[in-house]
Amino acid sequence: MFDILIHNGTIVTVDAHFTMLLRGAVAVRGDTIQRVWQPRGDASLPEARETVDALGGLVLPGLVNTHTHLPMSLFRGLADDLPLSVWLNDHIFPAEARFITPQSVAAGTRLSCAEMLLSGTTTCCDGYFLADQVTGAVQGTGMRAVIGQGVIDFPAPGVPDPALNADHARAFVSHWQGRSALLAPSVFCHSPYTCSSDTLLAAKKAADENGALFQIHVAETRKEVDDSRSAHGCSPVARLQRLGLLDARTLLVHSVWVDPYDIEIIARSGARVVHCPQSNMKLAAGIAPVPAMLRAGINAGLGTDGCASNNDLDLFGEMDMAAKLHKVHLADPTVMDAQTVLRMATIQGAACLGLDGRVGSLEAGKQADIVIVDGHQPHLTPMYNPASHLVYAACGADVRHVLIAGRWVVRQRKLLTIDLAPLVAEVNDLAHHIKLQAAKV
Ligand SMILES: [Zn+2]
Repeated sequence: MFDILIHNGTIVTVDAHFTMLLRGAVAVRGDTIQRVWQPRGDASLPEARETVDALGGLVLPGLVNTHTHLPMSLFRGLADDLPLSVWLNDHIFPAEARFITPQSVAAGTRLSCAEMLLSGTTTCCDGYFLADQVTGAVQGTGMRAVIGQGVIDFPAPGVPDPALNADHARAFVSHWQGRSALLAPSVFCHSPYTCSSDTLLAAKKAADENGALFQIHVAETRKEVDDSRSAHGCSPVARLQRLGLLDARTLLVHSVWVDPYDIEIIARSGARVVHCPQSNMKLAAGIAPVPAMLRAGINAGLGTDGCASNNDLDLFGEMDMAAKLHKVHLADPTVMDAQTVLRMATIQGAACLGLDGRVGSLEAGKQADIVIVDGHQPHLTPMYNPASHLVYAACGADVRHVLIAGRWVVRQRKLLTIDLAPLVAEVNDLAHHIKLQAAKV
């Protein structure tokens, strides 16, 4: 007897062969996928406590958002259409200094989780300050997450003395390591230009001591690379390599301004890359050479980045943009095809986080993180190629049901783990104060 049986939908497994099963079936027991197969008619279906008829729908692995700043949904739309340095220094950093508190972090985090769950993202990788509060807030939502404690050489929320930043991250990681099946702690260095070499080394050590992921924004702008060459005589990627910080547990976020030498360094080290096309486009940071990185054998995932630079957390939109951005940039419509992009948003995203043995595809033995997209929509009709629809035609609002570790978190588009109305009211109340203060500046 299975707990949940999903049948009749098109199963997009995202396994190594990109197997798709028309009117296929997925059986779940406990938190695990037991079987994925092509049944011979309804009469042959096994018994289950709950059967979901996904006729006309697409059944896919939960999406993996490999770069978020969950509490920043509080600043969605607060400052747009500005260069990165102005946006960050004149708007985001001051707003964070004033309004980031344990309470506001929890509210912003829950709002981001609500948005992600309702749009089919089941795993995210976050980096922010007050990571204890972020973790506590994520815990109640049923979401799977890697959560990084921010490290930066300035006074930051929860870490007023930057001399203690790596110690704080170490304490966070060792406290949360192994406490939850769904949550893993991590260390998130803001960037090579906001962290000294000593800080970078101490932060990586804090992550390594606990087998945790080390995340860092890197080579996001041309200026960052130029400044690094002036100050350190090498690119930011080469600097991280010289410091011995690149390995399979290092996640290089953005990697926009990387040259062929940097790409070779990343490929050899086994470090993973996160591509955030919409954030890079909105801040006019540049276009990461993702097709070249993939050709070099680098594992790359997709990330939305924080809500203040995107301005939403819908990975369907991110997939669409990732595919089209590189086609127009390289004047080649064959690059970044739908399957490649869907892999980035699922199994490769999972590999970025060291979770590809557990999630990222629909295969027996993996965690039951499953999304069902409603295919009965004008914009999804007809359906010749499910991968094409998921990347080019579907959006987050088409997600009908979401299962994480065998537990329903979204059913018939209703969020089961978060009471949305009071949360939206709370965030709107916080935003009212943020707006009043911003008007006074
Ligand atoms: Zn970021």
